[in-house]
Amino acid sequence: MKKIIALLIVLSAVLSISACSQTAKDDEKVFFGLNTVITFKGPSSVAEAARRLINEYENLLSVTLETSEIYKINTQNTSTVSDITADALKAAINVSKITEGAFDFTLLPISQAWGFTSSEYRVLSSTQLATLLEKTGWERVVVSENEVFIPEGFRIDLGGIAKGIITDRIAELLSEKNVDGALISMGGNIYAHGTNNGKKWNIAIRDPFSSGTVGSIKVSDTAVITSGGYERKFVIDSVEYHHILDPNTGMPARSGLSAVTIISKNAALADGLSTGIFVMGFDKGTKLWKSRDDFEMILVDDNGKVFVTENIAPDFSGKYTIIKK
Ligand code: ADP
Ligand code: MG
Repeated sequence: MKKIIALLIVLSAVLSISACSQTAKDDEKVFFGLNTVITFKGPSSVAEAARRLINEYENLLSVTLETSEIYKINTQNTSTVSDITADALKAAINVSKITEGAFDFTLLPISQAWGFTSSEYRVLSSTQLATLLEKTGWERVVVSENEVFIPEGFRIDLGGIAKGIITDRIAELLSEKNVDGALISMGGNIYAHGTNNGKKWNIAIRDPFSSGTVGSIKVSDTAVITSGGYERKFVIDSVEYHHILDPNTGMPARSGLSAVTIISKNAALADGLSTGIFVMGFDKGTKLWKSRDDFEMILVDDNGKVFVTENIAPDFSGKYTIIKK
């Protein structure tokens, strides 16, 4: 019986994904950028413009490109940056404030020490972490117009929000060009523009414990962005370590949540919050949701239980427990 249920889940997942591609008249473009696979379903003229936009932003915001402005900030204490980079930093600071520091874009020294940037993984001791934590703290980054200051030894990493920031620009582009419908996915960070031949887009939500899904959500003109510990991780001595870090300890965040999907018109907010609420956990995340009206959530806890906020529950297909205001 279990097998049949599993098969049905997979089948419906395949159907919901293929439903999108069947009805999309325009071709689908696939390209590589932002260290991930990007797919764009929509008019090919806009796909090309979107690709250029992604390139432009990546060249400014990448932590690894030695010519980027983030790289420049990370190698000198004070720098002058473009409007794009200054605005990206301001968006990151905004999410850090909202999440009371659970989202912290200054954890690069710790990510590097764990080996997440080089794939040469190692386990850090609490003494090592304590030393590294002294070089972190988003409140100590100062952005004033186009001037950026970071203390000695600090390193900025916009990896938790950059895709969302770029997504917002692509969404603007799609509106400017009067595109009826388009779907863009950057390594699972999705933006659904307009409609899919008059109907809402149906976005499958991945199951963090399998290659299947936990359900799907119908949306339009909305970002659907997921953060999960399953995305990048390593195992040493049977212990799993993943890439989303708790800024208080420097350890991979273990908040009881295995995946956080944020649904919002504001993709930068959705991206930042998916990372931040993953760190905060169910109770704090729910409290934050109750205090605002600019995002919705689909949470999967460590037992695989799915929670959906009440405003989007009517558009969600799958088994879930409702989160009420
Ligand atoms: P992905 O980039 O895999 O879609 P996220 O949006 O959740 O996933 O971002 C994870 C990335 O954000 C990490 O790879 C790291 O660069 C950075 N990061 C890790 N922990 C935090 C944190 N607590 N706050 C902000 N950024 C973080
Ligand atoms: Mg994120």
